[in-house]
Amino acid sequence: MVKKSAMLLLILFALNSAIASQAPVADRAASSGSLRQIIPGHYVYSINNAGRLFNSGVVVTSEGVLVFDALESEAVARAERESIANVIKQPIRYLVSSPFHDPFSKGNLAYADVFKIGHENYRAGLLDQMQRGRLSAEEQRARLPNATFHDRMTLHFGGKEIQILYFGPAHTKGDSILFVPQDRIAYMSEVFFSEEFPNMAGGYGVSWIRVLDAVKALGADVFVPGHGPIPEDPKQTRAALDRLRQLLVDARDGIQAEIARGATEDQTVAAVKLQQYEKLPSFAGQREVVVRRMYKELTGNLP
Ligand SMILES: [Zn+2]
Repeated sequence: MVKKSAMLLLILFALNSAIASQAPVADRAASSGSLRQIIPGHYVYSINNAGRLFNSGVVVTSEGVLVFDALESEAVARAERESIANVIKQPIRYLVSSPFHDPFSKGNLAYADVFKIGHENYRAGLLDQMQRGRLSAEEQRARLPNATFHDRMTLHFGGKEIQILYFGPAHTKGDSILFVPQDRIAYMSEVFFSEEFPNMAGGYGVSWIRVLDAVKALGADVFVPGHGPIPEDPKQTRAALDRLRQLLVDARDGIQAEIARGATEDQTVAAVKLQQYEKLPSFAGQREVVVRRMYKELTGNLP
């Protein structure tokens, strides 16, 4: 009896600290991960966090592997590395990171031995986030990139040309797009919320539309989302990408019409309901965020 209560206390304490720190329960997340080949030489490692899919890209070459986004924790990143070691049996040479947000960059801790690359604004955003969170100097060093870029960087790696591209602010101010021309595949991270209402807490929705147009102009057949499922036929990702673009255009046009008739930000939030998207996951929490951010962006009040 005594033992049982002690155990219960221990479990409650563990649960409590996990919730308090907003930390994912590592074992649960790690065990739910899966590595899937999308097209030859290209894989996606996905984890399911509270019903939402978070995707990390894996590009395989004859000289090793490039990972795109390290996901939410050291444990999850180690689980992904283990899957890559078991299935692909090649060393990981590069980690390219797109958003600095913790769910995609905490896992950097598991890549101490790997050369890390991100946009210069990604580095600045990550540094700022870690300093505000008062993370140890050791963790800050471990997560920061070894190299940054301004517009683009091209890797010639294992017989593949791999382009790391920046097209402007979208989900953050430093999102990277990874494009492999010979395989016609573009990895988009959190620039692409597939079948999910986009998160724009720190985003720029008007610029985001231009970024999507630039990505579509690359001539890829497959667009890998940072969130959401990838259909059995990966070419169907194009239609989902078009739906995201249409959502942003509908939001922008609705807000622009309100601005044109002199509506305040609050009046615009009340008027632009975007009800046609209410069934998408995250709609309830993000609709107002999107309208407020895009209103500020369109009126020149978004730094
Ligand atoms: Zn994010």
